[in-house]
Amino acid sequence: MHSKMRKIVLFVALLFGSLAYAAEYTPSTVPDPKKAGQEFYVSNPDNILSAEDVSFLNRCAQDLEKQTKVELCVVAIGSIGEADAFDFSYELFQRWGIGGKNKNTGVLILFVLDSHDLQIRTGTGIEGVLTDAKCSKTMHEDMFPSFRAGNYGEGLCLGALRIYEICTDGEAPEELLNMKSVTNRGKYASSNDEEDKALGMVGMVVGGMAVLFFLIAIWKPRAKCPNCKKRKGKMIKDEIIERATYSHGGNGIRYYKCKKCGHEWSKPYTTSKLTHSSSSGGGSSWSGGGHSGGSWGGGSTSGGGAGGRW
Ligand SMILES: [Zn+2]
Repeated sequence: MHSKMRKIVLFVALLFGSLAYAAEYTPSTVPDPKKAGQEFYVSNPDNILSAEDVSFLNRCAQDLEKQTKVELCVVAIGSIGEADAFDFSYELFQRWGIGGKNKNTGVLILFVLDSHDLQIRTGTGIEGVLTDAKCSKTMHEDMFPSFRAGNYGEGLCLGALRIYEICTDGEAPEELLNMKSVTNRGKYASSNDEEDKALGMVGMVVGGMAVLFFLIAIWKPRAKCPNCKKRKGKMIKDEIIERATYSHGGNGIRYYKCKKCGHEWSKPYTTSKLTHSSSSGGGSSWSGGGHSGGSWGGGSTSGGGAGGRW
């Protein structure tokens, strides 16, 4: 009787537990922190981050923007369903227009809890400083070790801190370094190797799968070349002609270059008009013109950065 009861309790707990994380976001339903005001940079609708971590990330982003005009946006959500994390981060970046309009110095960190996805997207104006290689290094050295230990907020704060240092070409201010969210910095640096060895076969299998996922992730964005018919088309520019608003859709032209035969081509595209979302998170939805609250700078990305799974 007791064990039956325990099973029922466990079942109900699991059911409610999964309901709590049932929110599946699309790029149009992620609450935009700018709606709350210009000083907010973090979207945390599922409360994955503590208030302390959010406050650290906002401070970090405020300082960074003041110093360098780089606009850093952090999004931590429970699920994006079956969507591809690269595509999701790319669309969210363009939709919100992160970074200055002409400078394109925006950075988006997208964290997805259920699929263990992390994406760092960079605007075209910051790619030269915050290179793809540096994004990848930040992800693997500063963020994933904390994520694997279940400290998601800490990993995101350490990643933001590293991005701050790369963008300013220097040390972060004492004030940031002394905030509780990042006092564990460097904690995982030495223990990592031994841990990897101890994992042995399991580690190799998991590693193999991670490599496979990574290959799938980096292969997907390649477009089919109309000349040689190979999937070697790399997007080199995304020209937004008109942004989507609530009254009409947007459109633009994407430019591609084939990495195999060198053929270059362009393709016009359209985006659907915006809809008011009724999602939770303080009624946050994107408003294009920024009538209430603040807004992002209007920048865009061509897909630079790095992504992977921890
Ligand atoms: Zn080709």
